[in-house]
Amino acid sequence: MNIIELTERLNTDAIGDDMYRLICDLYSFCRSLTGNGIRQTLRTVGQYIPLSTYEIPTDKQVLDWTIPNEWNIKVAYIKNSKGQTVLDFGNSNLHVVSYSVPVKTRMRLAELKQHLFTLPEHPDWIPFRTSYYKKNWGFCLSHNQLMELADDDYEICIDSSLEPGFLTYGECLLRGETPDEVLLSCHTCHPSLCNDNLSGIALVTFLAKHLSLVSLRYSYRFLFIPSTIGSVCWLSLNEDRLCNIRHGLVVAGVGDPGKLTYKKTRRGDTEIDKAVSHALKYSGEDYEILDFYPYGYDERQFCSPGFNLPVGCFMRTPHGRYPEYHTSADNLEFVRPAYLADSLLQCLSAISILENNKAYMNQNPKGEPQLGKRGLYRGYPNGGVEDLALLWVLNLSDGDHTLLDIAERAGIAFAAVKKAADALLACDLLREIPNEHGSQGSLECERVFG
Ligand code: ZN
Repeated sequence: MNIIELTERLNTDAIGDDMYRLICDLYSFCRSLTGNGIRQTLRTVGQYIPLSTYEIPTDKQVLDWTIPNEWNIKVAYIKNSKGQTVLDFGNSNLHVVSYSVPVKTRMRLAELKQHLFTLPEHPDWIPFRTSYYKKNWGFCLSHNQLMELADDDYEICIDSSLEPGFLTYGECLLRGETPDEVLLSCHTCHPSLCNDNLSGIALVTFLAKHLSLVSLRYSYRFLFIPSTIGSVCWLSLNEDRLCNIRHGLVVAGVGDPGKLTYKKTRRGDTEIDKAVSHALKYSGEDYEILDFYPYGYDERQFCSPGFNLPVGCFMRTPHGRYPEYHTSADNLEFVRPAYLADSLLQCLSAISILENNKAYMNQNPKGEPQLGKRGLYRGYPNGGVEDLALLWVLNLSDGDHTLLDIAERAGIAFAAVKKAADALLACDLLREIPNEHGSQGSLECERVFG
């Protein structure tokens, strides 16, 4: 089966439900930059796809960064002077500031308040806070919960550990016909946040699961990494194979009701930029294309100037542009199966373009070949876009244009152009120009890393 046949056969309702079920399974794990929550997450993902897990030790130097201590947490609570629990980490992973150092103490409310975080503008929601690289501790709670706390003497307990251990990440490789790779990356480091974390994991997992069913031109590498330190670590450990990466996407925030958004690579005019833009243009949906900016997700690391990889970012509503972002309201109600499935489908559509974006040579370039006698030309008024696609492919198959170039120039969807090319190939009117994979890759290696 090829990727076009796969896309045609997909049952979107079922896929949305499957992706959502994975999100439900992962929701309760307490993920952070490191620790058992990530291991549990990767074990679950490993039930869907063949995943290799890597453990990188604390204190290892990775580019300009150092692998931090591993953080784990068992229990955490605040009790009032009567011994009643007023805040229990068991009720929400978001209640404790991620990477909080262990604490066992008593204090008055005024002092405790310096360690409490709320969102007064959304009094029912719990904020998500971290203190990865600064030793601190804290609790996050709804503003309503804070308002109910009387002036009292409180018992504070955070039974966490912050000790030498490992940074854990997962990787899945699907080998295609060529060593040229497409990189797909998602972050794994947020606890109980559905859109800004679990939706990306679900999409990348199901992309890998479905692509494993088809014959592929490219090899596909799927990364499940904690944000920033994870991509820095992976880049540091894999510098010698980066020259194989031909295209890439960071995937995040793909389950919310907002429109599809693509953030371009730092280069801005790579094939992945063109493929995703084209897929979105013909998706029939509202969408937005953003230019690269050095903020956001792990594209910041992949597109840092020393690597400058062709990696864009595929999202729905960008981070920080929806009020639920980094709060308890980014929950199982906020992401919907239909949006997850739609995001996966559009991603597959862009990948299908990459897989099929080849260049051909017209074998009858002097004058138009007579298409009618080959049963290809239907003529006015029946031929429509199909006739037009045949003529465009013949005219621009001169060695300088790929099918995507032709689709863009003609203003015709890639799928129609590909179909025309297949029909012309079957009549020997086209010849495929051998893929020059590798040559451009090694040149880039020399240029960037030489
Ligand atoms: Zn985030």
